[in-house]
Amino acid sequence: MSTTIFAKIISGEIPAPKIYEDEHCIVINDIAPQAPVHVLVIPKQPITMLTETTASDEALLGHLMLVAAQQARELGIAEGCRFIVNNGAAGGQTVFHLHIHVLGGQTLSEQGL
Ligand code: 5GP
Repeated sequence: MSTTIFAKIISGEIPAPKIYEDEHCIVINDIAPQAPVHVLVIPKQPITMLTETTASDEALLGHLMLVAAQQARELGIAEGCRFIVNNGAAGGQTVFHLHIHVLGGQTLSEQGL
């Protein structure tokens, strides 16, 4: 069910350049980058948010973290970067399809961007 913008990107309904894709996830550039490097690691499975996951998602969640780390290395920001998962509206989440933000390319403040 294509309910979010990310589901539409994954299905191809909305075209978006994918900088990485495998059977479990895609990686795209954020449309409104908050740092020189800002990509999103998005599972193909339409999980709403991290707190909706269960033990059955363990392997997928591990995979997403590994892809995020690999992307950080490939994008040249592994020495200093940030991985963020916003959870729920009050947590700053605006697209209700789980995703990991990978940010870097500048010195990031302790409090946030
Ligand atoms: P959230 O606030 O849910 O953690 O993050 C959603 C992110 O998705 C935001 O950083 C926003 O800029 C990004 N975003 C929203 N719509 C699109 C889109 O159509 N394409 C891409 N590439 N990113 C999007």
